[in-house]
Amino acid sequence: MTDAPGRLHAAIAELATFNDDVAAGGITREIYTPTYAAALRRVVEWMGEAGLETRLDAVGNLFGRWAGTDAGAPVVLTGSHVDTTLNAGAYDGVLGVLGAIEAVHALRAAGFVPRRSIELVAWAGEEPRFGTGCVGSRAAAGELSRADLDRLRGRDGVTMAGALRSAGFDPDRVEDARIDPATVHALVELHIEQGIVLETGGEPIGVVGAIAAPHDFRLTFRGAATHAGATPMDLRRDALVGAAEAVVAVERIARASSSGTTVGTVGVVRARPGAINVVPGTVELDVDVRDSDAAAREQVVATIVADARAIAAERGLELELAEIVEDVPVESDPAVVAAAQEAAAELGLTARTMISGAYHDAMIMGRRVPVGMIFVPSRGGVSHHPDEYTSPEELDRGVAVLAGTLARLSGQ
Ligand SMILES: [Zn+2]
Repeated sequence: MTDAPGRLHAAIAELATFNDDVAAGGITREIYTPTYAAALRRVVEWMGEAGLETRLDAVGNLFGRWAGTDAGAPVVLTGSHVDTTLNAGAYDGVLGVLGAIEAVHALRAAGFVPRRSIELVAWAGEEPRFGTGCVGSRAAAGELSRADLDRLRGRDGVTMAGALRSAGFDPDRVEDARIDPATVHALVELHIEQGIVLETGGEPIGVVGAIAAPHDFRLTFRGAATHAGATPMDLRRDALVGAAEAVVAVERIARASSSGTTVGTVGVVRARPGAINVVPGTVELDVDVRDSDAAAREQVVATIVADARAIAAERGLELELAEIVEDVPVESDPAVVAAAQEAAAELGLTARTMISGAYHDAMIMGRRVPVGMIFVPSRGGVSHHPDEYTSPEELDRGVAVLAGTLARLSGQ
């Protein structure tokens, strides 16, 4: 379908050279850094070569427009992100942007003329440099205020407002990035799966029916940090032993969830004072519970918290609960799902309808506009890591399905 085989693969390899930490391996390209800006300038050039008219919005979201014959019709948006976490892989996000450019090349080569304008987007800051991910799409969805820009702070202490200023943007203009939902017909995002469902099933394409959203919270157990030698076993208030029971409870309760799709993880444990001769006095557990079924997820969260309270009471510990983030799961739009399924079928590709366990910019925008996602396999499910890999053939299949999906959505 494309007249330049290998162009996409070469572009992915070239973008990977925009990297702030070559020494440690993988790719480090965080939003609002000079390296990110340089990478984005290259993407602007590639968008230009595909005949797209580019513009940057107030928070650094990059758009590339292929004007349709019906200039007033709501547009079809497609894209992802080209920022990375630390020491990450070459495909997460990048495929959805560079693959969309390749899809435009393919559609042009096939003589396709869109009725609705097709707008490509590279969302700013999908990865959580400032603690919260998807800042670009949150701004576009009208979910990021001026006050948020001062509140959101990275590990280096820099606020998002400060980072915007140093990258040449005006934080006071954040509201300008808002997209009127009435101007968007649909949004479709091509992405690597970041899991092993497609690889395990031997399926080349996933069509996302729903995007799971996290409910993250912190459980802090407080006991008594007494001497490990001088405190008899029956006189202890060991916060870590209580927390350990809670960790096991998270796994048990998530497994028993009514939806069958809930996942629960304790990814962070902080035990203090952290000395071999002191009974742990305070332990923080950061808990992440996700599901596309919000009711099932909240039932799991409530049960975990109740169990943690019972464990704390039993052991004479105090328990404190602090919310971190609670996002809303999003269902894909049936018309976008159908377009992607038809596009895959036309190419003779098996498409599995599946849930996205990871969140994406499409989830944020999905609260306002009809969305859908197309997945391609990730080898071993490895992502946010130098070993992240999807084969050239798998990438090409994803691009072909995206092109067919865009043709259907933009012709309607
Ligand atoms: Zn991503």
